[in-house]
Parts: sequence; C-alpha cells; structure tokens
Amino acid sequence: MSGKTTNLTGGCACGRIRYKLKNDPLIVHACHCRDCQRITGSAFVINIWIEKQFVETSSKAAPTSFRLAGGTGQGHEVYFCDRCGTYLWSDYHGAPNDAYFVRAGTLDKPESVTPDVHIFTRSKLPWVQLPKDAPAFKTFYPFPKIWSAESKARLIRKAR
Ligand SMILES: [Zn+2]
Ligand SMILES: [Zn+2]
Repeated sequence: MSGKTTNLTGGCACGRIRYKLKNDPLIVHACHCRDCQRITGSAFVINIWIEKQFVETSSKAAPTSFRLAGGTGQGHEVYFCDRCGTYLWSDYHGAPNDAYFVRAGTLDKPESVTPDVHIFTRSKLPWVQLPKDAPAFKTFYPFPKIWSAESKARLIRKAR
C-alpha cells in the first residue's frame, strides 16, 4: 500500500492556514467526479481520508466553509482559506467516520502520497492514463475490497 505517512504538513497558498496530519491516511482517493473537477478546476482531486481528530490546524486561523449539494444528494462542506481561496479539505456528510478529505495538492510534499484507488472514472478525462495496476471504479467501491486491515480497524473502533 502506498501513502502510509504520518505528520504530513501542508497549507494554503498564502500561508495563513497551516496544518499537520497526525496519523496515516485511512485511504487516498483520486476522484474524477465532475464536482471535484469543478472545485479544483482540474482533471481530478487527490483526497486524503483521515479522521478529523488527526487534522491539526495552526491556531492563527481556521478555514471558512460553505456547503455544496453533493451529487449523491448528501451535503458536502468545503473548507477553504478566506484570504487566498485555497480549498483545504471537505467534510462529506454521510461518510463513515468523523473525517475530513484533505486535498493532497495542498501538502508541502504532495509526492508523499499516491492514490490507493481511483473513483468516479466514468467522468475521467479521456487523456488521463491511469497506472495499469491502480484499482479504479466507475463510481464508488466496496470497502472490504480496497481498505487496508489497519484502516478498517480504525473505522470500526470509531464506530463503537
Ligand atoms: Zn490562504
Ligand atoms: Zn469527487
């Protein structure tokens, strides 16, 4: 599995908001859905799925948020720096765990993580070539198939 790193740091473009991830990602998604394409203005987003308790924000400033209607009908809270507009993370209501999806492009070293799975490839831009061995799904995926044992254990612990 790739993307097992603790204490990754990152921040917004203007430097006002800085964060540290105090645990390994549960999983790293590359999402090719239309919402993610639009929000990032790019081909896809790289999301680090991690419990909120492990996302430590600098005390100077907290991100602002606004609510988007998700494609699934479930709300989706987007957090960004109100000075420079960088999107830092999202909170998908209805996702298991009390978690954020941190945008890996805001890491100081974005090369620290590699997507574990590509999702919503039905709207993948045609010129994007996925690695041959990368798990990829037209929409979402069955959890047991993709999640590592450690991540499943963290999810179950939290649910209790
Ligand atoms: Zn900023
Ligand atoms: Zn998406």
